[in-house]
Amino acid sequence: MKKSSGYVSIVGAGPGDPELLTLKALRCIEKADIILYDRLVNEEILGYARPEARRIYCGKAPGVHAMTQQKIQQKLIEYAAAGLHVVRLKGGDPFVFGRGGEEALALAERGIAYEVIPGVTSAIGAGSSALIPLTHRGTAVSFACITASRKEEGGDQQEIGKLAMCVDTLVIYMGVNHISAIRTELITSGKRADTPVAIIERGSTEQERIVVSTLDQLEETARINAIENPALIIVGEVVKVREELMRLQQQLPARMEQIG
Ligand code: SAH
Repeated sequence: MKKSSGYVSIVGAGPGDPELLTLKALRCIEKADIILYDRLVNEEILGYARPEARRIYCGKAPGVHAMTQQKIQQKLIEYAAAGLHVVRLKGGDPFVFGRGGEEALALAERGIAYEVIPGVTSAIGAGSSALIPLTHRGTAVSFACITASRKEEGGDQQEIGKLAMCVDTLVIYMGVNHISAIRTELITSGKRADTPVAIIERGSTEQERIVVSTLDQLEETARINAIENPALIIVGEVVKVREELMRLQQQLPARMEQIG
């Protein structure tokens, strides 16, 4: 085992499609001695690592943790201190609802060298793949991202309501298990019941599903379609741009297929 100059690369793996990995992330994965990866990382990406590189799953499905956050941080420190190049691979961007900041702090506090390699966060990656522009001239000049997951179990969704009234497009991460509360909060805060909403499940992957609804029908739509994690909820008029693009696409199918 190498004895000195171990370090940790905290790397974003992008929203799901392995092709959306950055070149910098790819080059880093190719050199890694050991990779600790999360549940939302597309496992195809692990195929870019050297055959002898160790791959350790640290996934956290809602409610089921393969490894606690503290244990993950301990392992990062331990492997880097042993002289290894450690890649901590996380879905999307490591600093967007990814606890990458906590990991960087833990490493810095122990004097372990680290770098952060950004990734395409799912709001951007899944949104664009689903043909939903988060901003659109004349329709939306702002967007915000928020998580519905709260530290305390059953915490309310008041922040979502407040934020929704300040921005044109709202992207909600980790909302699938809180859809009823989100719908109620948004309507109570003043969002119109006919505001368009899209749910993107497994965005940018081959299993991607996109369903469109009004805010009023959101819970019903999610239930009928049996929406599961990981999924994003996009609230705002920009969802209509997707509808228009889909309508126009039907008029040029042959050319669009050539590009795909
Ligand atoms: N760091 C990640 C977010 C991790 S939190 C990022 O930057 O994207 C996990 C949540 O992200 C999921 O519950 C879901 O809301 C969202 N998410 C991640 N990948 C997704 C995908 N491919 N499609 C839809 N939502 C996704």
